Parts: sequence; C-alpha cells; structure tokens
Amino acid sequence: MNEPKAIPEPFDPCERAPSYVRSIAPYQPGKPISELAREMGLDEAGIIKLASNENPRGASPLALAAAKAALEEAGRYPDGNGFELKKTIASRLGVGMQTVVLGNGSNDVLELAAHAFLTPGASAVYSQHAFAVYPLVTQAIGARGIEVAARDFGHDLEAMAMAIQDDTRIVFVANPNNPTGTWVAPDGVRRFLRKVPARVLVVLDEAYSEYLPPAEQADSAGWLREFPNLVVSRTLSKAYGLAGLRIGFALAHPQVADLMNRVRQPFNVNSVAQAAAVAALSDEEFVRQSFELNRAGMQQLTQGFEKLGLAWIPSRGNFVSFRAGNAQGVYQGLLRRGVIVRPIGSYGMPQHLRVTVGLASENRRFLDALATVLSGKS
Ligand code: PMP
Repeated sequence: MNEPKAIPEPFDPCERAPSYVRSIAPYQPGKPISELAREMGLDEAGIIKLASNENPRGASPLALAAAKAALEEAGRYPDGNGFELKKTIASRLGVGMQTVVLGNGSNDVLELAAHAFLTPGASAVYSQHAFAVYPLVTQAIGARGIEVAARDFGHDLEAMAMAIQDDTRIVFVANPNNPTGTWVAPDGVRRFLRKVPARVLVVLDEAYSEYLPPAEQADSAGWLREFPNLVVSRTLSKAYGLAGLRIGFALAHPQVADLMNRVRQPFNVNSVAQAAAVAALSDEEFVRQSFELNRAGMQQLTQGFEKLGLAWIPSRGNFVSFRAGNAQGVYQGLLRRGVIVRPIGSYGMPQHLRVTVGLASENRRFLDALATVLSGKS
C-alpha cells in the first residue's frame, strides 16, 4: 500500500497546552536593582530595594563561610537526601528525620505539596490577599482554587474551615501572611486544625515565624504528633538571609513527607545551599539580631507612616503594607528616587504598597522619598 501520508495539520503546541496553564498570571517578583538601574540610568549603588522581604543584613558570616567551602566541591552532585541538613533541622525542631522534606526555597515545598496531593478534579482553599503562590500552584495542576474572603485583611480561619468541600485536598494558611503581615495566635490555629477533616492537608506556611517574639511562636513542629494532616513550611530566605541560595523545608507526617519526596527533583537543593543552611541554623545569634533589627525598623517605618498620615496594616513579618491612595503613582515616584517597594494590586490591594523593613538608613531614605513623592514635589 503506497498511500501518501496525510499532511499533519499545522498546529501550535502552545494552543494545546492545558487552558489552565495558559491562563496562569505569572508571579510578579520585586524589581531587581540591576533592572531599575538599566531602565532609569541610575547607579546601582544608589538604589535601595525594599521589595522582596529579604534580610537587609544579608547572610550570616558563618553561613557564607560554609557556602564558600562547599563551592570547592561544586563538581559533585549534592547529597540528594540532604542528610546533614535534615539531621540539623530534625534535632533543632525535635522531630524525626523522616519528617523533613527539603525544598529549593519554601516555594518548592508548596509546589511539592500541590503536586503530591492535588489533581485536576480537586480543590484547594486559601484566603483572599494570601501569598500568591497558593493560587499559582493550584492552577498549575488544573485544580480549583477556593478563595475565602479575608477579615480585616487577615485569614478568617473559621470561614476557611467551612469552605472545605468534599473534593478539597489542601488548605493553605500563611501565618504570618504576606503581603498583609496579619497573623493568627497559636490557639486560633489549633482550633482551626481541630475543625479540618483528617483527609484534608493543612499547609501551614511559616516563612516569617522567626520575626515573631518568642512568646508568640507556635510549637507547630510539636503539633505534628496531634495532627498527621499538618504540613509546616519554613524557609531560610528571610531571617536566615539565604534568599539567593533557595532553601526551605517542610515538616510533615513521614507518610506525607514520603509522597512529597517522590515528586521532588532528586537534587532539588544544591550542595552550597545545604552547607550554608546547616551553618545558618546554628547561628542563633544572627537570627536574634535580625529579629531585633526588624523590630526597631518596623517601629521606625510605622512612626514614619503616622507622621505622614498614612494608614498601615499592623504586621508580624519583616514588611508592612501601607495605604498609598494612588499606589502606582507613588510606586513610580519612589522608583525615580531609586527606592524599590512592591505594588500589591495583584493581591487585590490596588491602593496599598508593601515595603520590606530595611536597615535604619534605608528606612530613613524610603520615608524621606515617600514624603517627597506624596508632597507632589517628585
Ligand atoms: N511563603 C511566604 C508567605 C512568602 O512570603 C514567601 C516569599 N515571598 C515564600 C513562602 C517563599 O519564599 P522562599 O521560596 O524564598 O522560601
């Protein structure tokens, strides 16, 4: 049979990507210093970035030394099981090593939970104004997002528990939340955990927990014994100052952790990050100083807002969102003065801007620039 082959119809592979992928609104990161310098012809050294909730002190010197030493072994693959790092995390937090899942940033951990537990027919619950990655990872799987109205910008955990459907597999809770800085006290979170059916995972994202005063910190690692459906997510990007190395982790019931590890890339956390993280976790003094700097900086910023007559949302994180009215105009005015903050219109907060707590001198510069922009002299 010598029939000519049918000519394949022209097709655009992108048209055949799932519609739920094609309609994803990409994550909008804070503007990098180099980009603003290019766009505005500014000197990089004169720009301050208070847009990505980074630690203004950088990384701990112990972590940097460990990272440099680990670079010597860059020719080798990392330990795919992250033995040393898991051991360090497990002993610091009083959990078993099988409880720990390492991630390329805690963003990775959130994705691992979504990949392991969501399907196109399932749903995930999260709050209005919650961290943008929850809807993103939900949509990337083709699962349905159920957004629950916030109360005073914060998570309404009672309403979130009631929003759970038969097809719900995950509830995402950010505590404290970004970009609102709102927070629910440990008692409230435990009450919520008791209400959530055991078949539904609660991903408790504690990216900013080190910025809480010790008396307000939850024993979320201890809660794992009582709630096997709990996944605690932590990061070394914030108080530990390792945002650029991308390292975070989850604590979960060993069977949950096992499933998350199955969908993980075998070498998702590089060797330099693993070494730096082990050292960073042991540098308690660095974290304590970062906490103190943040507390003083938060006071400096909120006093500045008070003077300028601006409303802000009380925050437990290393950032604070304030009402700027014409937020886009203020954002652009600040950029022209070499100050990068974060517009949060995509979080349903078009009149707010979020600023990360910086060094005292950076906070001062931001407040001065803000005063100038608001006075219309910019
Ligand atoms: N959770 C929250 C609430 C965050 O604000 C962030 C960072 N913006 C992350 C998780 C992810 O951070 P990373 O991937 O750097 O750990």
